Amino acid sequence: MLRLENLCKRYPTGDEALKSVNLEVPDGQVMALIGPSGAGKSTLIRCVNRLVEPTSGSTRLNDLELTGLSRRRLREARCRMGMIFQEYALVERLTVMENVLSGRLGYVGFWQSWFRKFPAKDVSEAFRLLDRVGLFDMADKRADELSGGQRQRVGIARALIQNPELLLVDEPTASLDPKTSRQIMRLVCELCKERGLAAIINIHDVLLAQMFAERIVGLRLGEIVYDGPPDGLTPDVLTDIYGEEDWSETIRAVDDDEKENGKTGILALDPVKEPTQQTPTQV
Ligand code: ADP
Repeated sequence: MLRLENLCKRYPTGDEALKSVNLEVPDGQVMALIGPSGAGKSTLIRCVNRLVEPTSGSTRLNDLELTGLSRRRLREARCRMGMIFQEYALVERLTVMENVLSGRLGYVGFWQSWFRKFPAKDVSEAFRLLDRVGLFDMADKRADELSGGQRQRVGIARALIQNPELLLVDEPTASLDPKTSRQIMRLVCELCKERGLAAIINIHDVLLAQMFAERIVGLRLGEIVYDGPPDGLTPDVLTDIYGEEDWSETIRAVDDDEKENGKTGILALDPVKEPTQQTPTQV
């Protein structure tokens, strides 16, 4: 369970990005955070893992109070939170496998990470995850040879190899075409279900949020103005969150998609295949 209590963020410029936000995200829940540009979505996600320092309030992940942790304790705590970024944040000149294994850097010792030597179990877990995200045959490709959707799949595998308790997902589809965006959202949500993992997904696309998340939180000017199920996003609620606009097309598109794909869009899960390559790898 993630619990935010009276979380506030005021930037040195005076911008009040979060105004006393209270939020609980139970284990296993996929929550979409929507709202107009500047509403405070990225700030909220980054205050959780303290990439942005909250001004006041508290953030608790299960037994651990995150606000107030020392730098060293914070580094350990960040291993418990996987992050997926809009621009993937891969190391371009490294291979897919190396990028995935970099998610384990917080766990291996200094000299192991210096020589990029990872335990065999990390390597086999990396193969297992690459298989799960559909990139098993691409382990040796360089990141800069991949498409946007493939890069985001690497980003997902890198976050999951941390074995996190929470996924923080910041605009995962903003750089992708509509079809790939759906595939990525579907994959993230399936993986959360498989692992009983909570996720906060900052997403500007209302349609995608409604199709894939079980709970929607709408932010406006740093305050929560909606917290409820996807089908509670009526035109009036959307106007509260985003201001005046004609929402009929968005709502019709969700209805059409549900007719085509079933209610949730969550697919049956593929069984995880055993990796064929088990040898320890130096990367
Ligand atoms: P969103 O992700 O919803 O677009 P942000 O969290 O990026 O919103 O921004 C919320 C508010 O905080 C905006 O008014 C924005 O201008 C301000 N803000 C964000 N980052 C900074 C920063 N580094 N310095 C000053 N103000 C910032």
